[in-house]
Amino acid sequence: MKMTQPIRIELPTPFALGSVNAYLFIEPEPALVDCGARSEASWQALLAGLAAHGLTAADLRRVIITHAHVDHYGLAGQIAETNHAQIWVSELGRPWLVAGDQMWQRRISYYQHDFLPKSGVPPAMIEMVVAYMRETAQTADTVPANRVHTFSLTDCLEIGGLSWRVIHTPGHASHQTCFYQPETRQFLSADMLLAKAPTPVVETPPNGQKRVPALPKFLESLDLAAALEIDQVYPGHGRPFDQHRVVIAKQRARILQRQEECFDWVAQGVDTAVALIEKMYAGRPMQIQFAGLWMLIGYLDLLIADGRVIEHEMDGVLHYSVTGN
Ligand SMILES: [Zn+2]
Repeated sequence: MKMTQPIRIELPTPFALGSVNAYLFIEPEPALVDCGARSEASWQALLAGLAAHGLTAADLRRVIITHAHVDHYGLAGQIAETNHAQIWVSELGRPWLVAGDQMWQRRISYYQHDFLPKSGVPPAMIEMVVAYMRETAQTADTVPANRVHTFSLTDCLEIGGLSWRVIHTPGHASHQTCFYQPETRQFLSADMLLAKAPTPVVETPPNGQKRVPALPKFLESLDLAAALEIDQVYPGHGRPFDQHRVVIAKQRARILQRQEECFDWVAQGVDTAVALIEKMYAGRPMQIQFAGLWMLIGYLDLLIADGRVIEHEMDGVLHYSVTGN
């Protein structure tokens, strides 16, 4: 078995999370898994990373996107402009690439008029979050629809001369896909498996339906990953690592611990998401508190699914209480 290892190209992002990884495969044809947010700094870093292997952006034949978050696909449009590369993404992720503006508009509107007010976020803070989301939306270009190719959630993809299984891993994003190579036991884990647990991003509910709880899905995706025989994990952020089951066990324990802290606060009468953020993410910067809100909603989703906490809407805000109190 010829062992092809993905080459990590670290790209800067304008976000608090730091850099994002693109993975380069050179043979049999240059291909990239994920490609960074759209910014001049990111573009230059990508060109430098390719040049280190004697390549230019025009040499890329395929760009495969793990999930349609701006830090992973933002440059895809610019790459498509420079060459004839095919841009690949799962069927579920395609709308963000070809109609990102509409997708963002829907999400911003949901946050502005539904999710954030119901979480008890004050209007001035909602304005800040909306402005931040609008800015984030600018860090990805639309990809022309005729350049986008889709794979199904049960496909295999040829990358680097080997066949990689697509593994659908909702949680951080409902459409997220990882790629697993069983013979070489390599796992391109996107933002599903990172050294630190990713956030369960709150998404726009499907038309007329209830929001799909993301953290319970993430825990199921951890089960999927734990069941795989993996020697090396290539994450979307940070350095590659091994011992994936140890990492998974740690994250589970941390999530359970924070879920219990959340339960204790609710039991003490801290009863809205915003009030819980002030307890559980006290004194942290706004970007962290915003990500904290996603985690917190996740803990509440788990507690509600377990029947330990109930939610009820009062004056347009969701309130939480311990079952039986
Ligand atoms: Zn990411």
